[in-house]
Amino acid sequence: MKEVVLSEQRVKELEAIYEKLQQEYEKVAGILNFSCSGCPDNCCDSYFLHHTYAEWAHLWQGIRQLEPKRQQTLIARAKSYLEQCERDLAVGQRPQIMCPLNEEGLCALYEHRLLVCRTHGVPATMTRPDGQILRFPGCFRCQDIVDVQYDQEQPPHVERTVLLRKLALLENELLENKRHLMPKVKITIAEMLVKGPPAIPRLHCEKK
Ligand code: SF4
Ligand code: SF4
Repeated sequence: MKEVVLSEQRVKELEAIYEKLQQEYEKVAGILNFSCSGCPDNCCDSYFLHHTYAEWAHLWQGIRQLEPKRQQTLIARAKSYLEQCERDLAVGQRPQIMCPLNEEGLCALYEHRLLVCRTHGVPATMTRPDGQILRFPGCFRCQDIVDVQYDQEQPPHVERTVLLRKLALLENELLENKRHLMPKVKITIAEMLVKGPPAIPRLHCEKK
């Protein structure tokens, strides 16, 4: 196995995608007059799966900047998260457990948080490669605003397609254009912590 490492250039590319998504998010949030302030909930307990080695590697760049003791604490928390998760999934329940990186309401790795953490909240759309349009209604609070203001109309939303395509492209380049040959990523942040930095199998032609 070899570790998947993001070069400085790829970090810049990934951060540019994050930044653009955030700008789009803020634009829509502004139109809707929506913000997280005063929210009684915290969506860091939502069960999300993540799909790229690029984001996984970026998260680990953040983890490695922490003191070893702090890293161990977060990993230990991630292990308990996964145990609870397993119990919930075994009885057919969607887990709702606080992310191991959330400390008293704040993200311990804010600069390295994942795309979903940056985009959950306002409505969004995405067109899949087969042409199917996926619509995300936003969080429950935002849906309340949308219901009052937009009735049957399509509300303002973030169009994620172009940016997600850029991320897919970056991912493929990171995997040396062999994304299709690599094991699929479909994991929680807790799994990213427990599994360690991302690694991929060496291809046959790379073996000595
Ligand atoms: S995204 Fe929605 S549910 Fe999550 S903290 Fe913000 S307002 Fe609350
Ligand atoms: S990584 Fe940070 S922002 Fe994302 S769910 Fe965890 S605590 Fe929340």
